[in-house]
Amino acid sequence: MVRVLTLFGTRPEVIKLAPVIRALSARHETFENINVSSSQHTSLLYPFTATFGIRIDHDLEVMRPNQAPGEVCARVLSALSVLLDEEKPQLLIVQGDTTTALAGALAGFYKKIPVGHVEAGLRSGDPVSPFPEEMNRRLISRLAALHFAATEYNRQTLVAEGIPESSIFVTGNPVVDSLQHILGSPRRGPQLDDIIEATRQWRRLVLTTHRRESLGPVMRENLAVLRLFVEKHDDVALIFPVHPNPSVVEATERVLKGHPRIFLLDPLDYPDFIYLLSQSWLIVSDSGGVQEEAPTLGKPVLI
Ligand code: UDP
Repeated sequence: MVRVLTLFGTRPEVIKLAPVIRALSARHETFENINVSSSQHTSLLYPFTATFGIRIDHDLEVMRPNQAPGEVCARVLSALSVLLDEEKPQLLIVQGDTTTALAGALAGFYKKIPVGHVEAGLRSGDPVSPFPEEMNRRLISRLAALHFAATEYNRQTLVAEGIPESSIFVTGNPVVDSLQHILGSPRRGPQLDDIIEATRQWRRLVLTTHRRESLGPVMRENLAVLRLFVEKHDDVALIFPVHPNPSVVEATERVLKGHPRIFLLDPLDYPDFIYLLSQSWLIVSDSGGVQEEAPTLGKPVLI
């Protein structure tokens, strides 16, 4: 038996690790699964673990109001280090570029537990954008022992950075597996049904935005441009599931509120959000995950 500890703390990690956890569980004669949530996010995380039926064996409960990346990193590192001593996994899996993933990789490295990195080799090329995610990715690549790259291009990026070829595996992107899994079992909440009905006669522009480096004046300006676009095109409706980050909520209320063709929603559960994307005319998003999902759904996306 190989004891595998899988760490996640935000919704994109859950979405992209769900197929990995399912595959490990299906091979239960080989792998013993330990699922750990850092709970870097909570309201944006637990609906997703429920949707994908992911059992949480340990919850590090690190989330605090207005938390900074350094604080999250320190709390995950110290709580996970204790847990690694207790659970003694033989492999630690992290995904992507969150602060949870970086702290997890560092904790594994300190404890001499091999780290497997899902979505390895993704780069923007700018060390401070997305912030802090791009640096998190680069650092995780230095710490990990196994690199699961979504594409051949990502594999080449890792090779160019000196990662041994024998430790890199091109696996495809598990977001595609998750998307297909969810499309097979559609489920829509009443909030979304009402919006779809209310926007029936318009072209639906679906927006998501919450990148840390866009918060403040950049986001207000972006939202103002989108409002102007909706004002100028009377056949377009803007639908925005608003991220709970207080800066996003504040900018949205200041700039987008009070227009009859702008619909502001709470964040949607994954099946509802994917359904909304499937009913869109255009997607505008600064989310890495949404940029990957849009082509799978055959929808144009503006970044
Ligand atoms: N998402 C969702 N509901 C929403 C908004 C986004 O389920 O209301 C999903 C989306 O499909 C994508 C993921 O959340 O897979 C993106 O999460 P986030 O934007 O937090 O992370 P990023 O992609 O920027 O890393």
